[in-house]
Amino acid sequence: MDADFLVVGSGIAGLTCALRCAAAGSVLLVTKDRLPESSSQYAQGGIASVWSPEDTFESHIEDTLGAGAGLCHRDVVEVVVREGPARVRDLIALGVRFDGREDPEGWAYDLGQEGGHSQRRILHALDATGHEIIRALSEAVRAAPHVRILENHLAVDLLLDRSSEPATCWGAYVLDRATSAVHRTVARATFLCAGGAGKVYLYTSNPDVATGDGIAMAYRAGAPVANMEFIQFHPTCLYHPQAKSFLLTEALRGEGAVLRRPDGERFMDRYDPRAELAPRDIVARAIDNEMKVHGWESVYLDISHRDPAWIRTRFPTVYERCLTFGFDLTKGPVPVVPAAHYCCGGVVTDLEGRTALPRLYACGENACTGLHGANRLASNSLLEALVFASRASAHACAAIARDRATPPSIRPWDPGAATDSDEAVVVTQNWDEIRRFMWNYVGIVRSDRRLSRARERIALLQEEIRQYYWHVLLTSDLAELRNIAAVAECIITCAQQRRESRGLHYTIDHPSPDPGWARDTVIRRGPDGVADVARVVGG
Ligand SMILES: Cc1cc2nc3c(=O)[nH]c(=O)nc-3n(C[C@H](O)[C@H](O)[C@H](O)COP(=O)(O)OP(=O)(O)OC[C@H]3O[C@@H](n4cnc5c(N)ncnc54)[C@H](O)[C@@H]3O)c2cc1C
Repeated sequence: MDADFLVVGSGIAGLTCALRCAAAGSVLLVTKDRLPESSSQYAQGGIASVWSPEDTFESHIEDTLGAGAGLCHRDVVEVVVREGPARVRDLIALGVRFDGREDPEGWAYDLGQEGGHSQRRILHALDATGHEIIRALSEAVRAAPHVRILENHLAVDLLLDRSSEPATCWGAYVLDRATSAVHRTVARATFLCAGGAGKVYLYTSNPDVATGDGIAMAYRAGAPVANMEFIQFHPTCLYHPQAKSFLLTEALRGEGAVLRRPDGERFMDRYDPRAELAPRDIVARAIDNEMKVHGWESVYLDISHRDPAWIRTRFPTVYERCLTFGFDLTKGPVPVVPAAHYCCGGVVTDLEGRTALPRLYACGENACTGLHGANRLASNSLLEALVFASRASAHACAAIARDRATPPSIRPWDPGAATDSDEAVVVTQNWDEIRRFMWNYVGIVRSDRRLSRARERIALLQEEIRQYYWHVLLTSDLAELRNIAAVAECIITCAQQRRESRGLHYTIDHPSPDPGWARDTVIRRGPDGVADVARVVGG
C-alpha cells in the first residue's frame, strides 16, 4: 500500500481532502504541475455563503435553484448552502483573509454581489480570492504530518479490481513527468479532484491543467458521468494572443462596465432588458452572435467612465494584468471574447462524494453532485468543492478506520511494444483540431447538424489517438490529448441526447425548454471497457 488516501489534484478540493484525511492516515497528493497551479488559484470573484444578518439560507437556496433551470437536486442545494458558512469559517481559521473592515463588533466582511444572487453574500479577497485561499490551504497541507506531495506527477488511469461489478478502485497509475516512469500507486481510498475541462475548447478562462483528466479517468473506468452538455462560457476573457486564459471578472459589469462593438456602440440592450447585467449565458450568447454575424474577432468591455483611482483599488489584479498587454482599464475599452469557463457536469457522486465505484470519490469541478443543475450560480463552485471535499473526507476516514481488506495484486504499468514517438505532430494536430471543432460545433450555440459533424470528427480522432496511444511511450501531452478527446465525446453525447434548450445548453433546432427533459443526462462507457461508444443509462 503506497498510502491510505490518494488525492489527485491540488486545487481547493484536493487540498481540502488532503488536509482532512491527514488526521486519519497517510496521504499521497499527486498534482500534475506545481502545487498551486489550478483553476482555484485564479478564482477572482469569491465564495458565496450566507453571512449577513439580512441574508437567509432560503434565499441562497432559491437563487441556486433558479439558476439551475429545474435540474438542481434540492437535497444537495440544501446541504451545500446550510453547511457553507461553517466551511468558510474553517478557511478563516486556517488563516484565509477575506476583505472587510474593523468595526465595533469585530471584523465586518465586505460582501460582494454577483449576477443571480439576490443578496450580498460573496466573500472575497480583492479580485484574487482563489490565490488567497490556495495560499492558506497549501501552507496547511505542507505543514501537515502524514502528507506526501508529488508535484509534476500526472494520474493516468485508475487501478481497478474488475473481479466485482462495478470495478473497485485501488489507486491510480501515475506518470512522473520528470522521468517518464509510470508508477502503480495503491491506496485504500482515491479522491479525484482534477478540476474542470476548459481546455477541450479553443478559448477558455481555465489554466492549462484543466484537461478533464478526472472525468476521463472515471469514464474510462465505467463510472457514470452526467450533464456534460452544460458548459458555462464566461462572456469576457481578454482577447490578446499572449493573454492566454485571462478573465475579466463579472464584478466589472456589476460595477458598471459596458460592452461595446468595435465602433463604440453598445449592443446588450438589444438582447436583454437587463443589458450587461443579464445572466452570463445570455451575455455570452449575445457577444458570440455579434462576433459571428459581423465577423469581428472580439468586442470591447469599457469601465473607463469610473474613477481611475477606484478602478485601480477595486480591481488591482485585472488592472495590472491588462496593463501588461497594453490596455489601460481606466483610459478606454479592452477587447474581450467569451471563453469556456466551467463544467457543470462530471462524475456522478452522492451526498458523501462517492462515485459508483467503491473506494473512489470525486470532489470539486470534476464531480456532478447535483448542485448546479443546468447552470451554475456565480461563486457557488468554490463553496461546492469545499463542502463536498469535507463530506467525502469524513466518509473516507470513517470507512478506512474499519477497513481490513488487502488490495488485490494489480499489474504494474506495461509499456508493451511502445517506442519513443517520432511523430509528436499527431498530438499537436489532434489537440488543435478537437479544440477548434468543439468551439465551432459544440460551443455557445449548437444545432443538430453541428453536433452530428462533431460526433463524426471525434469518432475518427478517438480511433487515431487510440492507435497512437498504445504504440508510443506515454507523455503527459499524450495523456491529456486522450483525456480531452474522451471529455469531448462525453459533451457531444450528452448534447445530442438533450433535444431542448435549457440553462447553458442552447440549440437552434430545439430553442425552448421541454418539460419532458427536466432530468439529468447520465452516460456510461460500454461494458466491454474498450468500446468508446457511450450508452445513455439514465434519465
Ligand atoms: C479564471 C477563473 C475564475 C473563477 N472564479 C471563480 C469565483 O470567483 N468563484 C467560484 O466559486 N468559482 C470560480 N471559478 C471556478 C472555480 O475556480 C473552480 O470551479 C474550482 O476552483 C475548482 O476547484 P477544483 O479543486 O475542483 O479544481 P482545480 O482548482 O482546477 O484543481 C485541479 C487540480 O488537479 C490537478 N490535476 C488535473 N489533472 C490531473 C492529473 N491527471 N493528475 C494529477 N493532477 C491533476 C491540477 O493540476 C490542479 O492542481 C473560476 C474559475 C476560473 C478558471
